[in-house]
Amino acid sequence: MLIPRGLLAADLARMPSEEVDVLVVGSGVAGLSAALAVPPGRSVLLATKDRLGHSATRYAQGGIAAVLDLVSDSVAEHVADTLAAGAGLCDPVAVRTLVSEGGQAIADLLGRGVRFDREPAPAGGDLPATELARTREGGHSRSRVVHAGGDATGAELERALTEAVRSEEAVRSAEHTFLVDLVTAGGRVVGALLWSGGRPRLVRAGAVVLASGGAGQLYADTTNPPLSTGDGIAAALRAGAVLADLEFVQFHPTALHVDGDPRPLISEAMRGEGAVLRDGDGSPVMAGVHPLGDLAPRDVVTRAVAARMAATGARHLWLDATAVPADHLERRFPTILARCRAAGIEPTRQPIPVSPAAHYLMGGVVTDLDGRTTLPGLFAVGEAACTGVHGANRLASNSLLEGVVFAARIGRALAEAPGALEIPADLPPSLAGVENGPAHLRPEEAGVVDNPARSGLEVGYAPPPGDPNAAGPGAARFPAAGPGATGPVAGTGAMPLGAGPGAEPGAGTGAEPGVGTGALGAEGLRGRVRRLMTGRVGVVRSGEGLAEAVAELERLNGVLGDLGLGRRSTASGAPGSGVFEVANLVELGRAVAELALRREESRGGHWRSDHPAPVEAWRVRQTLTRSAEGGLEAGLLAVPAAAGVCP
Ligand SMILES: Cc1cc2nc3c(=O)[nH]c(=O)nc-3n(C[C@H](O)[C@H](O)[C@H](O)COP(=O)(O)OP(=O)(O)OC[C@H]3O[C@@H](n4cnc5c(N)ncnc54)[C@H](O)[C@@H]3O)c2cc1C
Repeated sequence: MLIPRGLLAADLARMPSEEVDVLVVGSGVAGLSAALAVPPGRSVLLATKDRLGHSATRYAQGGIAAVLDLVSDSVAEHVADTLAAGAGLCDPVAVRTLVSEGGQAIADLLGRGVRFDREPAPAGGDLPATELARTREGGHSRSRVVHAGGDATGAELERALTEAVRSEEAVRSAEHTFLVDLVTAGGRVVGALLWSGGRPRLVRAGAVVLASGGAGQLYADTTNPPLSTGDGIAAALRAGAVLADLEFVQFHPTALHVDGDPRPLISEAMRGEGAVLRDGDGSPVMAGVHPLGDLAPRDVVTRAVAARMAATGARHLWLDATAVPADHLERRFPTILARCRAAGIEPTRQPIPVSPAAHYLMGGVVTDLDGRTTLPGLFAVGEAACTGVHGANRLASNSLLEGVVFAARIGRALAEAPGALEIPADLPPSLAGVENGPAHLRPEEAGVVDNPARSGLEVGYAPPPGDPNAAGPGAARFPAAGPGATGPVAGTGAMPLGAGPGAEPGAGTGAEPGVGTGALGAEGLRGRVRRLMTGRVGVVRSGEGLAEAVAELERLNGVLGDLGLGRRSTASGAPGSGVFEVANLVELGRAVAELALRREESRGGHWRSDHPAPVEAWRVRQTLTRSAEGGLEAGLLAVPAAAGVCP
């Protein structure tokens, strides 16, 4: 499959452009924090495709994990918990950086006006409450998760940081402004092509910070809002940045089992406060599965839930919080209780129907510890980035922390290297035809633009793992499926996931008769991709299903031109942001499926029914990049040893 360099045939050399020191894309916790971290005296444009305040961040419930008390907790323990959850693939140096800067991140947020919940004031005294309240979540050995508004941590973060950005003179915000593509010149990112008010908008920037979030919308069942379509990650792929760990998708075990997009989340923190997962007979699901029981790492719980659903044919299980005192539930989980009640469920008296849903993308655009990607001029932060802290499975409540910690590091890196912020004087004319040329063209349109990338080049993916003809430094290190790959783990096999609460049992496997996109339209195509990903690239995967997904996504990629992609932006019928999103979902879905197919083992968020055990030789990270000709190239990244990381 060829990935186009750009989605729009904009003639950049002739377009008016504006200039800014730093362009930040996205207004979740990562983007807002990055905009605020830019060194003084520098201009910032904060572009966001919806309104300020709209993001996945504002849905976050449980809280932010941080070591705040060195008596009852330690950096070493938070590091160890993060590494354990990451199932052998975390970058230990990145983890240590995240954890050891966590306390400062919370202090910074308090300084920005975030109102975290506090312990009640001591009885009888007139002292105000001062201690931040902390809870425990899955995979954490200590209570170290701070929260706000009970279960409305993300909304409070979003409120406080948005207010801070609004009062920052150097930061201009551009709402309803969609990143279409990154503009590169000589291998450096020099700006971006945005889409705003039905028109393209060209920005030249000294640095671009991608903070565009994750891609939960790849799946039909997800806790992520509709804006989580992986646009920034797909744009970085098209621009030639290296991506990694895309096969690791975290499915949350307890989304409320009702129709909805997104599906309301029932936070893990509820299990932290004593709620128990039960099957239809009332048996506790996690008993005997893991020493941490209901608070086992998320991938373990999701697999146990999926296995129990498969074994019993149930379409959902139950989260039983009836033993938790009602007043405590009301105080800690007002949002969750309201959502349950809106669905006719009374959690203080009834168990809550729950089933897994796509929740978090561990992979993204590869960065170093200061957010630098492999493309000079481009930084990434938050869920769009892949710093290596999450490995194969993110530890609960580490992602908000990651957004704050690494945004601050980007700010410091920009301050230390002011030369890096030089705004390009002009965009080279070659960008018009070559570096931002489209390739989603139907054959009959092929003559419309000058695009060398589509001149019959057939550059495919790198050879599969174990292929003796594999080329490149990393390829030979791919393990073949060996004896270790056949060890049993509990509960493999088919499971009735992927159809969504409203669908009939057995539906939604992703296998649908082939129809051109013309007949489907953008929304039909979006639905098809999401059902395909859920059915074939979901909680339980197999080589056969993944190969089918790859083939179908390639077919869909081939007909994206029917939606108007690749047409000149001024032509009638130029696509809008909804169409760009669909193209991004197809390209990113293809990338996720490809790396999942290659990884012949089960680890963290990647569970293969045909390779159900972890394989030591696969303790490597997979990368993906687009070659200059438009093909996708897979590679490997070694995982540094954890030794010496913990104090
Ligand atoms: C229901 C739910 C509960 C969660 N609970 C927790 C929790 O308790 N603790 C925790 O640590 N994590 C939690 N997470 C995960 C965490 O919220 C996210 O990983 C984190 O908020 C991501 O922040 P971000 O800034 O990277 O991206 P987001 O918050 O998703 O923001 C992305 C921004 O980019 C913008 N954008 C996207 N594409 C484009 C484009 N093409 N052009 C312009 N703008 C664009 C979006 O509009 C948005 O403003 C939860 C997630 C969900 C969905």
